[in-house]
Amino acid sequence: MTQGVILAGGKGTRLAKALGADIPKPMAPVCGIPLLERLIILLRDQGVTDILLLVHYRADVIRSHFGCGSRLGVQIRYVEESVPRGTGGALRDALKLLDPMFLVLYGDTLVDLDFAAMLDFHVSRNADLSLFSHPNDHPADSDLVESGPDGRVVGIHPYPHPEGAEYHNLVNAALYVINKDLLLKGSLPDSPFDFAKHAIPEWISCGRRIFAFRGDGYIKDMGTPERLARVEADLKSGMVARKSGRIPRRAVFIDRDGTINQEKGHLARAEDFELLPGAAAAIRALNKRGILALVITNQPVIARGESTFEEMDRIHRRMETLLAREGAFVDGVFICPHHPDKGFAGEIAELKIPCGCRKPATGLVDQACGLFSIDLKCSWFIGDTTLDIECARRAGIPSILVQTGTAGKDGKFPATPDLIVSGLPDAISEVIARTPFQELTTQPEVA
Ligand SMILES: [Zn+2]
Repeated sequence: MTQGVILAGGKGTRLAKALGADIPKPMAPVCGIPLLERLIILLRDQGVTDILLLVHYRADVIRSHFGCGSRLGVQIRYVEESVPRGTGGALRDALKLLDPMFLVLYGDTLVDLDFAAMLDFHVSRNADLSLFSHPNDHPADSDLVESGPDGRVVGIHPYPHPEGAEYHNLVNAALYVINKDLLLKGSLPDSPFDFAKHAIPEWISCGRRIFAFRGDGYIKDMGTPERLARVEADLKSGMVARKSGRIPRRAVFIDRDGTINQEKGHLARAEDFELLPGAAAAIRALNKRGILALVITNQPVIARGESTFEEMDRIHRRMETLLAREGAFVDGVFICPHHPDKGFAGEIAELKIPCGCRKPATGLVDQACGLFSIDLKCSWFIGDTTLDIECARRAGIPSILVQTGTAGKDGKFPATPDLIVSGLPDAISEVIARTPFQELTTQPEVA
């Protein structure tokens, strides 16, 4: 299928100390199996059998464990650095062994996902480099990706962020598809350099096609004893498999205005965005259980010319920042910017169209299902209007009407929700109460 490159040169001092053994970080056992072995097996099971290990610290331990790879049914070649020169330096040293397109994994990060989906994305965007990106529960101390609607990365905001900055909660998870051409064309420094911190910002600034892939996948580094414990807990609870997307996932589709945030008429400015009480904690409860939290919102204010795509983006950055302050995140925000009725001053003519995405049409639910593997019949829709309830009915999803915002009094559809509750916290409690016990294991809090 393609080539798999694993950066396996890490020393892992803190981990080795905790394990009481002089082993390189990629050899740390995760539920009894070295992480590196887990990654090789994952690649092999998806048809990636040509594997390049970039090694440095205690390379002898890694070589003697894997040899040529025949025991695992793969071919392993090694590139050994005499001095560590950063993730970028290691790749540069491996140039002559690299395929025209290859996957890059980190030897201290447990990954589980469908590589084919990411490779398809990479090829369809004609990208030079694609990175896996996802929201996490601590974006304030993460390097954050800024991308356009098609996924093209326009900037990376390194941690620490400026005071008061509001960014999308979209983290570079350090899993890449790279075209070898990218490494050949650019001028790579001779000094040690890090891929994420140095090379990618440089490539963005000189116009290379860098894209952020979003979709199902579990990716978590285990470079400290605490993080290793969390990864092991996720493996045991089934969280890793659940997030991999291999089995369709449970999702909760959530309306925005009047359900997550205060209804303020036609919200058009980020300054007016205010979370409803308990909304963040409720969404965090979904996050901890690996249930997708997806925002589905009609925003005709754009078609009417009362707001812009830029301002809408600012509103969502604010929403993601406010949620993140309470350790919560949404997995995706799906927006219909259209409006069917023409003839108003200041309107944007090309958005004044009947579309398939304006609720109660199900286009936004379909978009979400294109991005994630979702089990619709086990999912829920939560909203404050009859449009939400009717959209859920058309999509075949059970629905919950909340008594915040419009409280279902818009009278547009003769909607009959499956449940009526006071607000989002109660709605999410009901969803969780109806989730089978085996899916309820939560992620442990990280120290
Ligand atoms: Zn639309």
